[in-house]
Formats: sequence, C-alpha cells, structure tokens
Amino acid sequence: MSQAAAIQQNASMRIDSLLGRGLPTISFEFFPPKTEAGFAQLFNTINDLHPLKPSYVSVTYGAGGSTREKTVALVARIQRESAILAMAHLTCVGHTADEISGILDELWVAGVRNVLALRGDPMAGPQGQFISTPGGFGHASELVQLVRSRHDFCIGVAGYPEGHPECLNRTRDLEMLKQKVDNGGSFVVTQLFFDNYDFYRFRDQARKMGITVPIIAGIMPILNVSQIKRFISMCGAKIPHQLLTKLESVEQDPEAVYAAGIKHSVEQCRDLVAHGVDGLHFYTLNKSRATVDIVRALDVKHAY
Ligand SMILES: Cc1cc2nc3c(=O)[nH]c(=O)nc-3n(C[C@H](O)[C@H](O)[C@H](O)COP(=O)(O)OP(=O)(O)OC[C@H]3O[C@@H](n4cnc5c(N)ncnc54)[C@H](O)[C@@H]3O)c2cc1C
Repeated sequence: MSQAAAIQQNASMRIDSLLGRGLPTISFEFFPPKTEAGFAQLFNTINDLHPLKPSYVSVTYGAGGSTREKTVALVARIQRESAILAMAHLTCVGHTADEISGILDELWVAGVRNVLALRGDPMAGPQGQFISTPGGFGHASELVQLVRSRHDFCIGVAGYPEGHPECLNRTRDLEMLKQKVDNGGSFVVTQLFFDNYDFYRFRDQARKMGITVPIIAGIMPILNVSQIKRFISMCGAKIPHQLLTKLESVEQDPEAVYAAGIKHSVEQCRDLVAHGVDGLHFYTLNKSRATVDIVRALDVKHAY
C-alpha cells in the first residue's frame, strides 16, 4: 500500500473498529511540547515507536496555557506525516460549549475521528475543586453528549481502577462511568495503576454494572522514583509495597531503577494480556526507550 493510501485508510479509521477483534490494542500517549525542540524530539520518539505498529496514539489536552491549541494540529500532523491513527484528548476546563463545538469542528475538518472526552482537572488555585465555566460543562458525561451530537466521532472516556480522587466511593464512580458510556463512550482508557488486582476488580464491577465496552489499561513505565511518587500523589494511584521498597533500595542508581521499572511493567502487561485485556495504553511522556523495551519484551500480537 502506498504511504498516501495508508494515510487515507488510517485517517478514516475509528479506534472502536480495532477493538473487539480478539487481539489487544497497543497505543501510546503524547503531550504537545512547548518548544520547537520539543516537537523535534517528539517526532523522533514517534519514529522510534513506529516499527512497533501502534494501534493508535493519543495527544493530551493541556490544563491551560499555550499548548492547548497545539493538540488539534499535532493529532492531524501525526496522522498525515506518520500514517498512524491518532486520537485527540479534549477537556471541559475553561471552555464554553460553543468553544468546544468549534474545536470539534476543527478536529473533524482535519480528519480526526477519535476523541477522548474528559472533564479535566481543576485549574491550579485556591479552590482545589472543579468549577465549571459559565456556559460550559461540569462533568465529562455532558461533553460526551456534545461530542456525539456534533459529528460522528468515536469517543473514549476515562476510568479509574482505584477510584477517581474526588469520588466518595468506587461504586458511585462506576455509576458515573456508566453514564459516560450510555451517553456515547465506546471504550474506556484507565488511569495508570501498578497492581493488576485493582484493574481486575474495576473491570469485574464495571461488567456487573452493565458497562460492556472495551476497557483499555493505562500503563506508566517507571523511570525515576521521585517522578513516579509525584504522579501517584496527583492521580490517587498507589504503588505496591514490594515494588516501592525495591525502587527505593536502588534509587541512587538510575539504570537499576530503570531495570526494576521495566521488569515490573513487562510482568504487569503479560499478566493483563493473559487475562484478556482489551488494550494497553502507554503513558510515554514523549520518550520512546522504556515503551520500546516493554513492547519488544512482551512480543504480543496486537490489533492495528
Ligand atoms: C486516560 C486519561 C487521559 C487523560 N488525559 C487528560 C488530558 O489530556 N488533559 C487533562 O487535563 N486531563 C487528562 N486526564 C485527567 C482527567 O481530566 C482527570 O482525571 C479529571 O479529574 C477527571 O476527568 P473525567 O473525564 O474522568 O471526569 P468525570 O467523568 O466528569 O469525573 C470526575 C469526577 O466527577 C464525578 N462525576 C462524574 N459525573 C458526575 C455527576 N453527574 N454527578 C456527580 N459527580 C459526577 C466522578 O465520579 C469523578 O469523581 C486524563 C485521565 C485519564 C484517565
């Protein structure tokens, strides 16, 4: 197939057409860089990851500031230049419904067909709680409704194996997840987690509550002890005691931390695949080495 034909084929594809084929998806998440040098590094990363034949990649939507406008262009550029199916994240933070409609139109015109519909986190400030923009939305389920009504997008939503930090209990959280799916979400991508028990319990409960769409596991390769502690404190995930002890025992030796982190991720992903996971979504932090090492070690057939 020519590159132009591959681009055309990929650009018209929806992620839900790859799911449910009996093979897991393998996907990579990036964030829009702030600088030209960052963009050059990101496209090097994408080139490194390309031979792994990702099912799709996704681009986050900034919490505020200048990178937000870059998401649409970056997703379109990845599809155009790298011929990889790409999904745009979109949040409700700081936007009216009309503004979001405008962004959805831009995505559609740019050939983007997949959107991860999110509420977003509260802006940094004294409130510490999410306050919806006047004329905007307070929950991702409302955004899902808008995305669905605006164009025929394939819509993903976020799920939380250990519960969303703001939620009072996991059952309520799953009821809210069901609302997002009932409103039009056709797959779930989870927050990072390190103990598969949390994922299996979440998936089992979701199925019991009638959430039947594919659930893709979010995987964060551990590269650095202080960085991972910062991430888990922000998203409310926990790190198994044995893994934390191992990482702290080699904290001063970056290569030993890397080796322990990769070992954990490979074991985690192998176990997930053995238990029929619908997909593995890697939080790459725009770097390729760890993701390449994990996916190569896994050597699993996947959908693309
Ligand atoms: C895979 C993934 C990708 C992400 N990408 C980004 C990104 O690109 N940019 C970014 O800024 N953030 C991103 N986030 C973070 C996300 O925005 C935060 O976790 C945010 O706090 C919640 O978003 P949500 O879409 O899950 O919100 P919601 O589904 O709205 O849930 C948020 C909270 O509100 C509760 N809730 C939901 N609906 C209702 C209701 N009707 N009534 C009462 N309570 C309700 C839920 O239980 C939960 O506690 C991502 C998270 C994940 C898991």
